[in-house]
Amino acid sequence: MILVVNAGSSSIKFKLFDIANKKNPISTVEGLAERISVDGKLTIEINDKKHVFENEMKDHLDAVKLILTKFTELKVIDKADDIKGIGFRVVHGGDKIVKTVELTKEIKKTIEENIRLAPLHNPGALTSINAFQESLPKAKLVGCFDTSYHQTMPEINYMYTTPYQWYTDYKVRKYGFHGISYEYIAYKAQEIFNKKQEKLNLIVCHLGNGGSICAIKNGKSYNTTMGLTPLAGLMMGTRSGDIDPSIIQYISKETGKDIYEITDILNKQSGLQGVSEVSSDMRDVISASEKGNKKASLAVELYTQIVADFIVKFANQINDNIDGIIFTAGIGENAGVIREKISQKCRLLDLHIEYKLNNEKYSDYLLISSNESKIPVLKVKTNEELMICNQTLKFL
Ligand code: ADP
Repeated sequence: MILVVNAGSSSIKFKLFDIANKKNPISTVEGLAERISVDGKLTIEINDKKHVFENEMKDHLDAVKLILTKFTELKVIDKADDIKGIGFRVVHGGDKIVKTVELTKEIKKTIEENIRLAPLHNPGALTSINAFQESLPKAKLVGCFDTSYHQTMPEINYMYTTPYQWYTDYKVRKYGFHGISYEYIAYKAQEIFNKKQEKLNLIVCHLGNGGSICAIKNGKSYNTTMGLTPLAGLMMGTRSGDIDPSIIQYISKETGKDIYEITDILNKQSGLQGVSEVSSDMRDVISASEKGNKKASLAVELYTQIVADFIVKFANQINDNIDGIIFTAGIGENAGVIREKISQKCRLLDLHIEYKLNNEKYSDYLLISSNESKIPVLKVKTNEELMICNQTLKFL
């Protein structure tokens, strides 16, 4: 078995894969330990049946021990040693980690060094890595980084226009995120387009709560919208995306708030939530807009315009045969009206969406454009956990 782990500061999300058939790992168990160090709630879902435990979890180590005990009690595993590998999602690998790696002492040190670049994300990953290492000393521990897929971006796309010294002294550059999802889509696209990955040119829109776009050239990340942090680029659920940086100083002067408070607002109270004043959830914003709420409609128009503008920019940058434009993640996979509006707004690309296909149910992926479309448009379900599982498998 391989356990895939995505940990935050007070939660551990997990999915267990049976790797008996190495070519086709199957997951039947997933769950979430949450409210760690507050009180504690563990949910384990086996074949769609939920088991909920309200046990106190003092820290991540407590949570890991509880997960493993419940796995044995629920007969998910016979013994802890059945778990041969654990794949961790880690947000920031900086510029040193360019691929999936075994979590050695050195790598853990690098994750720690990168806490200053990802203070909200890396600490949770590190504590959970240590907790699993202590509980399952024989398992192989592997780290998959959201930044590593983007390490192929050329200098012209990762450098900012700030003083060069900020790059050399403080590593100020674009890193990009959602790399595990993009890598999965690039891999999956081989099957979809019947082409080798290194021959594929794609524009992938990962539109979830957080959102970004990746220009994939010859199978590799060529450009992406997120930057030094996930705050950059698109309008998101609660994040502003790109704005004039002087707004920070201006609002500070006007309101007396300091830069930390304002950055927090840009991260947590902006985007769909901030503009619509309805919700950060696209479903609620669409529904309010359909009922005539003007701010919700503005949020939908802004969101789709910004995504469209980046797609056109990236098409210009790839400047070669583009195999497809792909929509993925919560909004990208499910929100037909958003895909339609974005496609209409990519005027230079002359995209044609088929209404019926765009709204049709699908299990894995579906072409949603007609033959008239200059570039094929698809909706594809991402699977970051499977990607992490497959990469972990390579280390066993
Ligand atoms: P995360 O970034 O947290 O992993 P997800 O990829 O799950 O987020 O995406 C969450 C977003 O997807 C939310 O804004 C949610 O409203 C949106 N979403 C999910 N299903 C639908 C749907 N049927 N129609 C519109 N939006 C949807």
